[in-house]
Amino acid sequence: MPLRIRILGAGVSGLTASILLAADGHRVELIDEYFAVPAVGTALALVPPAQSVLARLGVLERVRTISAAPEVGTLRAADGQVLATVPAGDALLTSRSELVRILLDALPASVTTSRRRVEDIRPLRAGADLLIGADGVHSLVRRSGWPRRPSARSHGVTVLRGTTPLAPPEVSETWGRGWLFGITPLAGTGTNWFACLPEHRTGSRREDLAHLRRTVGGHRAEIDAVLEAAAPQRTLVHGIHTVGGIWPVRQNVVLLGDAAHAMAPNLGHGANTALQDAQSLVQAIREQCGRSERRGEQGRGIPPDAASAVVSRSLRRYAARRVLPDQGWRLASEAMMRVAMTSSAAGWRDRVLSTTLGRIGQRAG
Ligand SMILES: Cc1cc2nc3c(=O)[nH]c(=O)nc-3n(C[C@H](O)[C@H](O)[C@H](O)COP(=O)(O)OP(=O)(O)OC[C@H]3O[C@@H](n4cnc5c(N)ncnc54)[C@H](O)[C@@H]3O)c2cc1C
Repeated sequence: MPLRIRILGAGVSGLTASILLAADGHRVELIDEYFAVPAVGTALALVPPAQSVLARLGVLERVRTISAAPEVGTLRAADGQVLATVPAGDALLTSRSELVRILLDALPASVTTSRRRVEDIRPLRAGADLLIGADGVHSLVRRSGWPRRPSARSHGVTVLRGTTPLAPPEVSETWGRGWLFGITPLAGTGTNWFACLPEHRTGSRREDLAHLRRTVGGHRAEIDAVLEAAAPQRTLVHGIHTVGGIWPVRQNVVLLGDAAHAMAPNLGHGANTALQDAQSLVQAIREQCGRSERRGEQGRGIPPDAASAVVSRSLRRYAARRVLPDQGWRLASEAMMRVAMTSSAAGWRDRVLSTTLGRIGQRAG
């Protein structure tokens, strides 16, 4: 009983939904402007619930082989003092470009792909039982379907991310006055690094790196060593944009991933929730198709009115399951970004963290 499904966006959420829906026998068309593997392979942390989705896709073992799995990391003040020791909780640190490459490879031949930029979603809705907006933070599907909701907003923060071929001197995130700097391993021997600082973008990655060195350099030798090895061609520079809360389903349209809940990167959960959204939507559709079949609609394909009932019940189910966790992560990530990036209250923050987290650590020990 295949549904006709169009998906706009071949990022983590759109690729995952395409693979799972095609495996269930639906007719899937996947549209993206690029179908591109990101050029710089900075790391994503994938936690166990997201790993379960990768297992369902049949790619978890391949992802494991290209991931690093550190056991702990430290949260440090700008002078190097350890504020907290943070267990990694079985997270895999995976290169974003390798993850997208693996998902593209796993796309079944039955999925029709179309490389083009979409400017109007009306033709996408025509002739489809379901339109999935997996088109990222600046989602056209969201802007078109929810025109009264505010669009993505900037937080006045610039993110620089990159990789170096050297082994990481430590696994850490350092919080300074109005900046942060993270160091994690990449699979093999490389280092993944990321930094947030008040908005400053010149259009030249060389200049942006120089500004980063001036802002965060000279505090800690480990950061200086990573920045010494950083190169403009292995660096990405962008702003942080998030979107406000939304009920992500309307008629036969649904939003997944960043289109529904783009969040600050500070808890590393955007791709994790995107994977879980896709899995949850497909599960809801499977349940409702099964119910429809049991009621005797099988054998003739789903007639238009039955298809629309299946879709609307599935979307309600999906939203009921995903809105709370997704919006919870969004709000918590933004709160974390504010704490991490505070300048005026940095001394107070560090004292509170070292006292409270230190005590929790002692008790746990
Ligand atoms: C600095 C930083 C660090 C992060 N670290 C982590 C982490 O450690 N762990 C984690 O889980 N998440 C992390 N994230 C978040 C994660 O990268 C995103 O949440 C995730 O990639 C979103 O996937 P998506 O599929 O929803 O959207 P996207 O990956 O943005 O995909 C959207 C796709 O839609 C296509 N598209 C958009 N509009 C159109 C159009 N009009 N026509 C045609 N195609 C279109 C685009 O080409 C793109 O391929 C981080 C994010 C940042 C910025």
